[in-house]
Amino acid sequence: MNQTPEATPARTAISDRLWWAIPSGDDTEAKATAERMLDTYKAEVLQGRVHVPDPWQPVFRLVGWLDRQNGRSPQEIGLRLLKLVEEAGEVAQAFIGMVGQNPRKGVTHTRDEVCGELCDVIITAMVALVSIADGNPDDILAAKLAKVEQRAAQTEGGAA
Ligand SMILES: [Mg+2]
Repeated sequence: MNQTPEATPARTAISDRLWWAIPSGDDTEAKATAERMLDTYKAEVLQGRVHVPDPWQPVFRLVGWLDRQNGRSPQEIGLRLLKLVEEAGEVAQAFIGMVGQNPRKGVTHTRDEVCGELCDVIITAMVALVSIADGNPDDILAAKLAKVEQRAAQTEGGAA
């Protein structure tokens, strides 16, 4: 895949998957079309024409509900962190069930169920982050994402 100056790991990942879906007998043309589509979408996002939902609002409501029910003691925060391990285990269970790894049980889960369990992990981690963070959890996540993305870009570019 050609790297444009503005290529980020996320953009490259999307582009690499998108061009396959573009009907064309010419891979180069399909890739160029995918890049143009991403440019158009980026422009729409930057102009505020694409609504990006704020996932934190329902998470704040969930944390408020938990706080009202259980308080926010160090023990309660610890249990919210522990819940993440429980949900991660459910991802493993669902994936094992999806591939039918246990011959006695066979296939017991669907890909959608694995995705649902992954969402549980994400939501639980967001709840734990809101519960324990001193600062704005969105800022904390954005800073972490930027760091991880930068590290990935350095690795992709050959830097260590
Ligand atoms: Mg679950």
